[in-house]
Amino acid sequence: MIYLDHAAATPVSRKVLQAMEPYFGREFFNPSAAYLPAKKVAAEYEAAKDVIAHAIGAKGNDIIITAGATEANNLAFTVLAQRNHGKGEVLYLETEHDSIRVVAQQHGGEAIKVLPSGLIDLEDLKAKITDDIMLVSVSLANNELGVIQPLAEIAAIIKAVKIERYKRGIKWPLYLHSDASQALNLLDINVARLGVDMLTINAAKVYGPKGVGALYVGHDVKLAPLTVGGGQEKGLRSGTENVPGVVGFATAVKEAKEHLNGNRKKYAKWKQILLKELQGYELINKKHTLDNFVVVCYEGVDAERLIYLLEDREIYVATGAACAASKGQKSHVLEAIGLTDAQINGSLRLTLGETNDEEQIHAAARAINEVMAAEIQRCHSINTLPKLDK
Ligand code: PLP
Repeated sequence: MIYLDHAAATPVSRKVLQAMEPYFGREFFNPSAAYLPAKKVAAEYEAAKDVIAHAIGAKGNDIIITAGATEANNLAFTVLAQRNHGKGEVLYLETEHDSIRVVAQQHGGEAIKVLPSGLIDLEDLKAKITDDIMLVSVSLANNELGVIQPLAEIAAIIKAVKIERYKRGIKWPLYLHSDASQALNLLDINVARLGVDMLTINAAKVYGPKGVGALYVGHDVKLAPLTVGGGQEKGLRSGTENVPGVVGFATAVKEAKEHLNGNRKKYAKWKQILLKELQGYELINKKHTLDNFVVVCYEGVDAERLIYLLEDREIYVATGAACAASKGQKSHVLEAIGLTDAQINGSLRLTLGETNDEEQIHAAARAINEVMAAEIQRCHSINTLPKLDK
């Protein structure tokens, strides 16, 4: 098997699995219980939260554990509970993951445009931050293109707006949220340096367990509970703590930090191998992207078919976002960067990761070239492609 879809899911690493195992058995206690073994588990849970938080330059007390990034993103939007009128208080980048896009749209949010590179159009952002805006949500790295947004620049714009508002006696708050799900194991993240008020992270994308995530929440941010009940996670996300999941997340984050530079170099090298050895493609994500993302387009070819043909050879790749593809929808991200329908239909997303080695990368390039050549031949025989020379 050659798995090139690490943006969709990563396997739980051996170390992560080992770290989690005791908390399913021996250390199964509810951290809220009063006896000593449970208190020990509670302390270990808090220590794991500290490790997760330190990885983004925060403290354990600053993060709320959630059941994944979708929940963390939804929790961030509860900041809007303090608003006093109904609409137009949210800006979100038009290429956001649906766990932001849908909730932002439900709140009457307006989309900020991206440039053809996939980077935020800062002029559009500036034009749209009216005095009503309370929340701006821009992911650190996009899940279809891997494009890394200039968060510090965005934060500086937001700071200037806040100062301007303050001078005019406007007390309406303004927060910056970022979804860093795809970036945690590929960028050195620090919440202060990024200038964010809230940040989403996701264990499932960094070789940790699925269904575990966290939201960093700055000190002056007031959220509303996502679930109510036992009052865990500062009352924002009630429910018995997922101790094995959080211990696993902490171990995954530690491993990611340790190997960050080495992995980046390795992926960058593999990306160059793919770009050199693949034939007849157009590169979609050219600049400012995560090292492990390669998005290529074979215009006029049906990438969905390529996926199935590659699957026959046990090579797993994606078209755009796995979620959009599974719903049979056109990728809103590829549409936003101005691709034509033919380009969107012909786009493949290859995301590299820890299940790969260099030999696999060469083998994948060879297989994709072979499948593509056969597919182009087939299209010509049924006359759906005008030329063979791309
Ligand atoms: N945000 C981004 C950028 C993602 O890539 C994903 C997962 O695909 C999510 C949010 C949702 O994560 P989960 O399904 O783990 O809640």
